Amino acid sequence: MSQSVPEPVTHPDFAEGFRGAVLRPGDTGFDEARAVYNGRALDTPPALIARCTDAADVVAALQYASARDLPVAVRSGGHGADGHASPGGALVVDLTGLREITVDPGTRTVRAQAGVLLGELDAATQQYGLVVPSGTVTTTGIAGLTLGGGIGHLMRRFGATVDNLLACEVVTVDGRQVRADESENRDLFWALRGGGGNFGVVTAFEFRAHPVGPDVVSGQLMFPGEQAAGVLSRLHALMADSPRELGLGTVLTLAPPLPFLPAAMHGRPVLLLLPCFTGPANAAGEVIGRLRALGEPVLDTVGPTSWVEANSMLDAIVPYGHRTAQRGGYLARLSAPVVDTLMERLAAVPDVPGTVIAVNAWSLGGAISEDVDEDATAFSRTGAAWLWECSAVWRGSERDKEFDGWTEGTRAALSPFTLPNAYTNLTEDQGDAWRRKAFGHEAKYRRLAEAKAVWDPRNLLRHNKNIAPAADRTVEAKGPRS
Ligand SMILES: Cc1cc2nc3c(=O)[nH]c(=O)nc-3n(C[C@H](O)[C@H](O)[C@H](O)COP(=O)(O)OP(=O)(O)OC[C@H]3O[C@@H](n4cnc5c(N)ncnc54)[C@H](O)[C@@H]3O)c2cc1C
Repeated sequence: MSQSVPEPVTHPDFAEGFRGAVLRPGDTGFDEARAVYNGRALDTPPALIARCTDAADVVAALQYASARDLPVAVRSGGHGADGHASPGGALVVDLTGLREITVDPGTRTVRAQAGVLLGELDAATQQYGLVVPSGTVTTTGIAGLTLGGGIGHLMRRFGATVDNLLACEVVTVDGRQVRADESENRDLFWALRGGGGNFGVVTAFEFRAHPVGPDVVSGQLMFPGEQAAGVLSRLHALMADSPRELGLGTVLTLAPPLPFLPAAMHGRPVLLLLPCFTGPANAAGEVIGRLRALGEPVLDTVGPTSWVEANSMLDAIVPYGHRTAQRGGYLARLSAPVVDTLMERLAAVPDVPGTVIAVNAWSLGGAISEDVDEDATAFSRTGAAWLWECSAVWRGSERDKEFDGWTEGTRAALSPFTLPNAYTNLTEDQGDAWRRKAFGHEAKYRRLAEAKAVWDPRNLLRHNKNIAPAADRTVEAKGPRS
C-alpha cells in the first residue's frame, strides 16, 4: 500500500501588507536565509521565511499567522541551541534586517533593534565608551540572548543583560504593537526578562549602558591537563574573594593544533582560563597574578587590550553551521567532586579530529547574584555561583549519536551537583519537568504560564523552550487586548 506524502505548505497568500522579501524553498537566497548556528536545523527546511523590514512587517506576518492559527518561529541572531529559529516546515518571522542601534550618551541608554548582533552593539556603544552587558561571541543575537537572560564578562560587575533591560517594543501574536517596561504591561516585561520567545515578537530593546574601556585586561591562560584539577579546585575561593570587575570563564578542552603551542600538546587535555578585568589598570597585575599563580601556564596571552578585542576572543572557536549539542546548568560550588566529574568528562571526549568539544564554567557572583532579587525577573539565578556548559560541534549526521551521547552523559554525570533552576539559553531544552524548575520556584513558572495565557493563549509561539499557557486563565482575565 502506498503512503501519500503531504504536499509542503507554501502559504501562497502570504501576506497582505508585508513589504519585505518572502523566501520559499528553491528561491534564490533561501538557503542562506535559513542557515543558523546549529547546522542540525538545516536537515529540514522551513516552509517560508518572511524577512521583515520593520515592525509593520512583523505585524503583517503575525496577523496572517494568527488569522490561520499557524505557529510561527522567530529568528534574530540564529544562535539558539535548539535551532528553533529555522524549524522544518515552519513559517519563520525573520528579524535579521532590523539592525538599527541608537546610543544616547547623555542618559547612557541604548535602543537596539532585534536583528542586532553583539559585535555590532559593542562597536556602536564603544564609540561613546559605553557597553551593554551581554555575551561573549560577536555573532550571537541580542534578541534571543536578552530574552533568555544574557550572561558574559560583565555580569559580575553589572548583572545579566535582563538586569539592564529598560523596555521592549513588542508585536503581539495578534499583530498589535505594545511597549513593555516597568510602567506599561509590567507582567509582559517581567516575563520577557528570561522567559524566552514565548510572549510576543520583540522588535526593539532599550538598555542601560555602562562606561567600560576602551582598555581592559584580558586574554587566555592555558594550563596542561595535569594541572587542571588543581587550578579548578582553587577557583571557587579565589573568585569569591575577587573584585566584581573580574569576569572569568574556564574551558576544558583538547588543545587545538595551533602553531604557537608545543606540538606535544596538540590534542592533549588543557584548561583555559579566560579572565576579563575591567577595573582600574593599576589593580590588574594583582588580580590576574592570583590566577597565574594557580599553576604554571604553558600559554599566557593576558594583557592590555580593547574591550572589543576581549569580547570577541571566543569567536575563533565557534564555527557557524556545524552540528551541535549542548547541555548546561548551575552549580553552587566548583567543589572537588564537581572538578573530578569535569575531568572525567574531558577524558571521555570522543576523539574526532576537527571537532570542537568543551566543558566550560563561568563564574557568577557579584552583581548578577547579589544585586537583583530572584523574583524581579523571570530569569533565575538563585544559589548559582557557577554555570557549567558542555558543547560539541562536529560535521556529519553519522556522528550525532556519539556526540549526543557525550553531552547527555556529561549532563547526567553533573546532575547530582546541578541546581534545579537553570539559565535556559546555554543548553538545549531538557524537557517539560526541567522547564518547570528552570525559572526557580513553582510560583515563577506559574506566573510565566499566566503571562503566556494572556499574551499567546493559542501558543502560536511554540518553536522555543515552550511554556504552556495556564489552562485556567483567559485573555480577558488581565484585559490587555482591545
Ligand atoms: C556560539 C555561541 C555563543 C554564545 N555565547 C553566549 C554568551 O556568552 N552569553 C549568553 O548569555 N548566551 C550565549 N549564547 C546563547 C545565546 O544567548 C542563545 O543561543 C540565544 O538564544 C541566541 O539568540 P539569537 O537571537 O542569536 O538566536 P535565535 O536562534 O535567532 O533565537 C533563539 C530563540 O529566541 C527567541 N527569539 C529570538 N528573537 C526573538 C524576538 N525578536 N522576539 C521574540 N523571540 C525571539 C525565539 O524563540 C528563538 O527561537 C551563545 C550561543 C552560541 C551559539
